[in-house]
Amino acid sequence: MRANYRMQRLYVPDDLAEGSPVEPSAPQAHYLLNVLRLGDGAEILLFNGRDGEWRAALAPSGRKKAVLIPVEQTRTQPPLPDLLYCFAPLKQGRLDYLVQKAVEMGAGVLQPVVTQHTQVTKLGTDRLQANATEAAEQCGILAIPPVREPMKLERLLAEWEPGRRLIFCDEDVGTNNPLPALQAVEERSLALLVGPEGGFSDAERRQLRALPFVTAIPLGPRILRADTAAVAALAVLQATVGDW
Ligand code: SAM
Repeated sequence: MRANYRMQRLYVPDDLAEGSPVEPSAPQAHYLLNVLRLGDGAEILLFNGRDGEWRAALAPSGRKKAVLIPVEQTRTQPPLPDLLYCFAPLKQGRLDYLVQKAVEMGAGVLQPVVTQHTQVTKLGTDRLQANATEAAEQCGILAIPPVREPMKLERLLAEWEPGRRLIFCDEDVGTNNPLPALQAVEERSLALLVGPEGGFSDAERRQLRALPFVTAIPLGPRILRADTAAVAALAVLQATVGDW
């Protein structure tokens, strides 16, 4: 069921149930009361990543505080998409963008991966999680993908989940078109791996290509920046073996 984009949607951490009041945060209350200038009884949508989406009525209590009363569940809680998005961390601005686009494009879990050429190793996963939640809020996504702690590529591969196919964006594949390789994928449990700005090392590429659960794909004849590659790869994956 598609999201209602006409109504304002807010993420709240609270449990959501009919009639049980939710107090928005101070910035959220300010936004509702003083930016959107919503009055008593105005309705918005609430979600918490667990209880689906609820239509809620606003009850202001002064200029700075408000209470939201859930009235009716408008969408049930969907499961997380079965798509693990593995990415080498990038510098802050591009990383924020990459996380938001991965959520919009249907990633179910975000897994930072430290490779030999990864420049960024200290990662603020709280900030990345806030980016993922904001993307979900803006795009009507109810299942908020968790951002996991960074993991070295070797460990990720050593502990790989049986039955999940890893689509490896390999800038050194000799062809340009990813579709033939993707159309041969049979698994529905999928993962995608995009490298850092410095690319994968030859040793990493050999290791990945030798694994039975890995499918290497090209992303056209040009080298894409990692955040561009992320969106391009997610688009072709969703359009061939994903949920588009
Ligand atoms: N160091 C690499 C080079 O200069 O050849 C570029 C790496 S690229 C900036 C970052 C990542 O995006 C790559 O590791 C790969 O995962 C993905 N990527 C970029 N262009 C690609 C392409 N044409 N085909 C497949 N993957 C690509």
